[in-house]
Amino acid sequence: MCLGKVWYILALLQDTNGSITNNMVKIVGKRNVLSNFEERYCYSVDATNVKELKRIATTVVFPRNTEDVSKIMRYAYKYSVPVVPRSAGTSVSGGALPLKSGIVLDFSKMDKILEINKDNLYCIAEPGVVIAKLQEKVKEQGLFYPPDPSSLAVSMLGGSIAMSSGGARSFKYGTTKDYVINLEVVLADGRVINTGVNCSKNVTGYNLTQLFVGSEGTLGVITKATLRLIPQPASKKVLFAYFDSLEDTSNTVNNIISNLITPSVIDILDKNTLLTIEKYNPVGLLTDKEAALLIEVDGEEETIKKQYEQIIEICKSNRSAFIKTAETVEEMEKIWTTRRSSFGATAKLAPDVVTEDIVVPRENIVKAVRGIREICNKYNLKTCIMGHIGDGNIHPNFALDLRNEEEYQNIQKAKGELFDLAISLNGTLSGEHGIGCEKMPYMKKALSKEVLDVMKAVKKVFDDKNILNPGKIFEQV
Ligand SMILES: Cc1cc2nc3c(=O)[nH]c(=O)nc-3n(C[C@H](O)[C@H](O)[C@H](O)COP(=O)(O)OP(=O)(O)OC[C@H]3O[C@@H](n4cnc5c(N)ncnc54)[C@H](O)[C@@H]3O)c2cc1C
Repeated sequence: MCLGKVWYILALLQDTNGSITNNMVKIVGKRNVLSNFEERYCYSVDATNVKELKRIATTVVFPRNTEDVSKIMRYAYKYSVPVVPRSAGTSVSGGALPLKSGIVLDFSKMDKILEINKDNLYCIAEPGVVIAKLQEKVKEQGLFYPPDPSSLAVSMLGGSIAMSSGGARSFKYGTTKDYVINLEVVLADGRVINTGVNCSKNVTGYNLTQLFVGSEGTLGVITKATLRLIPQPASKKVLFAYFDSLEDTSNTVNNIISNLITPSVIDILDKNTLLTIEKYNPVGLLTDKEAALLIEVDGEEETIKKQYEQIIEICKSNRSAFIKTAETVEEMEKIWTTRRSSFGATAKLAPDVVTEDIVVPRENIVKAVRGIREICNKYNLKTCIMGHIGDGNIHPNFALDLRNEEEYQNIQKAKGELFDLAISLNGTLSGEHGIGCEKMPYMKKALSKEVLDVMKAVKKVFDDKNILNPGKIFEQV
């Protein structure tokens, strides 16, 4: 029997009398529930390549407000139905996959920006607001919401808060966790809480806000967020510098930082990444260099002009083979387009891309990149390495065909060794993509039994029936 038929039968069995779906229709209305197999099938995937984990949601529900979510959770709690919150489904660690079927909550209809408060420098928004849209709206008022995952044109606040997503600008501005002031959360049993107040300072009890940030939908459902805003930087400048060795690349980064310059972005693209971009999206990159750095500075014009010149001098003193500066907005955009096309270009190398996200102390970057290359050679994997070198956050993007059993086995072994490498270099599994189900088997490598026990105890306090996004981060007892 083909796999499709097996899924179909399983999906039919999951809600045989339609009681879950009927109850969801009672809460949110028929037009806010998807019950067709084909529609539900679309929710059996997110942006993660984990072929063995596909399950079909019993029903997909579009809540319209907090009250809907609360009623849904009360029902789910009473009948122990698994619930997977989902925003745009761009998770690359399997975060939004409904591993135990049940209800998928799609937040795309809770997409309002409720307030932009310029006097108090915050905004309040619903989980379905697309990050790029929020950034545009606050920019109209001279304000800035810095978290910038590369997926920001589609990814949404709920998912990015639940993953504490980062991005290229994290080196200067931090990640999502640094901008969340207060959350409205629906608990597993349907109670609604606010984790804090809309003030910039608050040490009244435990920091529940930060507990929910990065909790991957396993502790509660985020229905509203108050986010810190900062003034828009007045100006920015970008350059792209090539190097013949990884040491020169890394020393350049260290020298920039030790000269007390904090670029808004310092990203690395390795030789394979440059070659692959140039092959599929030719923009005149130098493909015989070991690596390139994309460096952006932002702030007051006078200051960044000086910093830009200093950075050029530092690149030259580290034997940069060529420095492409950008004098106009178009030239800056061209450099950024190069960087943004790296993932898409890698995706053209093979049917699947498995993207990883290790983080190591910056001093170990060269060892990490060399180690990754050794692993790739051992398992014959095509890999483009890029990442946020300023944060020590490296993304090896493995291009392969997961249908090929040998390649599939190779990537599993390579991933295990990649995480061993990160840990041996005093780093860890993920800098921004989270654990989901994809990295769950490796958590024991990264965390002690004691730490895992504490995390599991926290999970139990918030979700004693294990109905919130089960099968993510760690196995629940
Ligand atoms: C091409 C590409 C580039 C990417 N680049 C980056 C990058 O630069 N930096 C980065 O950090 N990540 C990146 N990612 C990963 C991903 O985009 C981020 O994790 C993103 O923030 C997820 O947002 P989403 O709206 O798609 O969330 P989803 O994938 O829908 O969900 C992510 C997690 O959040 C939970 N969740 C969703 N909504 C809620 C809610 N309302 N309440 C509670 N939990 C919720 C889900 O259960 C799931 O565990 C990239 C992904 C792709 C495909």
